[in-house]
Amino acid sequence: MKWALLAVALILGTITDLPLPKHSGALAVDFHVHAFPLSWSALAPWDIVLEARRQGLDAVAIAGHNHIWAGQTGRWFSRLIGGPTVISSEEVHPPRGHIIALGIERTVDWDQSSEAIIDDIHRQGGVAIAAHPVKSSWYRWPEAAVRKLDGSEVEQPITFLQADAAREMREFHERVGGAAIGSSDYHTLGPLGLTRTCVLARDNSTAAILEAVRAGRAEPGKCGVPKRPGLAAKCSAVAALLGLVLIVLRPGSRRYSRHSRS
Ligand SMILES: [Zn+2]
Ligand SMILES: [Zn+2]
Repeated sequence: MKWALLAVALILGTITDLPLPKHSGALAVDFHVHAFPLSWSALAPWDIVLEARRQGLDAVAIAGHNHIWAGQTGRWFSRLIGGPTVISSEEVHPPRGHIIALGIERTVDWDQSSEAIIDDIHRQGGVAIAAHPVKSSWYRWPEAAVRKLDGSEVEQPITFLQADAAREMREFHERVGGAAIGSSDYHTLGPLGLTRTCVLARDNSTAAILEAVRAGRAEPGKCGVPKRPGLAAKCSAVAALLGLVLIVLRPGSRRYSRHSRS
């Protein structure tokens, strides 16, 4: 296990060392970020805001798993300190076929068809993006649902690590058309905004960013200036890794099995 963790750390470290020049004239946006608690992330919504600003992001969508309050908390804090735009969002999270609901104010129920989920997002004036649509999720995507999407993710950390995922997500996007999105799907490991979307919007308001996404004026790119994670992000990542190690090694269970054998 320790060698697997070391390999992951080396890969992420190599990726984060790549120089990324600034893309002029576009907003740098990470449309898929998770916060503590309840979404498998160690950074609180306010820490996400500070780290997003540090990573040169103009906007960030904090998307709770089946809830929106983390995004709304981050938005409140960011307005307080004059930070980046925080788009209140949800990752609608059935077992497969996840959907990023951007710019919503009411939780969307995950336990329904992809079409019904998207209709609910659109009724709220939001934007629907298919999250990491790899082949194993395609059974959730009949043509009628695909046609309702505003875009889909084509770049994510998994597309660096898995050639099949990269190909499948590109193939899916050819069915969808619309905005091509790059997101970090931030869960503490790897920097926020590692993969991001360059958006040509008239200003940095949520309304203008969503309007640009609907019009397809968005694509993955190297806009903004990503940096190494800040101290808070590093400390949280170490804590998360330690937690992961403890869960995987489960020393209590091993002791239990030794006792039970004896
Ligand atoms: Zn997901
Ligand atoms: Zn996610």
